[in-house]
Amino acid sequence: MATLLDVQNLSISFRTYRGILAATHDVTLHVDAGETVGIVGESGCGKSVTAHAVMRLLPAATTIYSSGTITWDGEAIQGYTEKEMNHLRGREMAMVFQDPMTALNPVLSIGSQIREGLTLHQHLSRSDADQEAAALLREVGITSPERRLHQYPHELSGGMRQRCLIAMALACSPRLLFADEPTTALDVTTEAQVLQLLRSLQAERQMAVVLISHNLGVIAQMCRRVYVMYAGCVVEEGPVEAIFDEPAHPYTQGLLASLPDPAHKDKILTGIAGQAPDLFHMPTGCRFYPRCRQAMQICKRQVPPYYTTGTGHRAACWLLCPEREECAWH
Ligand code: SF4
Ligand code: MG
Repeated sequence: MATLLDVQNLSISFRTYRGILAATHDVTLHVDAGETVGIVGESGCGKSVTAHAVMRLLPAATTIYSSGTITWDGEAIQGYTEKEMNHLRGREMAMVFQDPMTALNPVLSIGSQIREGLTLHQHLSRSDADQEAAALLREVGITSPERRLHQYPHELSGGMRQRCLIAMALACSPRLLFADEPTTALDVTTEAQVLQLLRSLQAERQMAVVLISHNLGVIAQMCRRVYVMYAGCVVEEGPVEAIFDEPAHPYTQGLLASLPDPAHKDKILTGIAGQAPDLFHMPTGCRFYPRCRQAMQICKRQVPPYYTTGTGHRAACWLLCPEREECAWH
């Protein structure tokens, strides 16, 4: 399938009062038309920053783009004007944010918030926009949508608010939907319903979805391919089954070891010892080095390159180096 989004070597940092904060380093990823791709990692690993950079939602005054390119449908978009980006954000790509309570405006009715995108980007009249908004609410599984249009966010449950946000994101039929931790604020039952909704919308609309989550279990249910991020870098990527069956990077192995497995109820869950590095003081060499139980001498000094594994996915870890015995002592 044709590549819709192509990000190459994207490095982003922020100017802060404490100094320069490194958010992503050399992130390379792509999304094909119509596919669902996952980005997984702990909070602060650069998942959301990458998505926000693509949609140019990062604060212009404090964001430093040190390297990289972002290509949309074959065109480099970093040079786009704000007007061109507005057009892209409205019609081509959209985002569902993590917390529906803060992403929705509490003082505007649901109807006026959904209408905004429709009148702005599709130039619909008020009554046409109302009809379309009701149709969108119905599509995301909200009953009596005409009544809901007049309600305010606080009158709806968390799950319903998330459905409203999805409806808003769908308003202009985007070709790519970023879903940034769309179920983190929801209970387990509602989470399952929202994931099912995203899955059916993706299939019906043939839309590409980038699902951002700290939960590998959520990614596994939804995605064909996954990018595992750690401390601003993509450390492993490939088909979900291959990464579940044979995780190559010790960080991915740690994520999987901390995941409950319904088929093996006696599985002992283990967390990853230590903490993610301070983004102001990144370790040299492999960024996972301070937490890695398999670390070797070389890991502390040299950044590991990507190696392709036996199951055809890629991971950045010195353990995969064919001359591993030699590496260990460098
Ligand atoms: Fe661990 Fe070294 Fe691999 Fe990094 S490169 S994950 S420190 S073994
Ligand atoms: Mg985030």
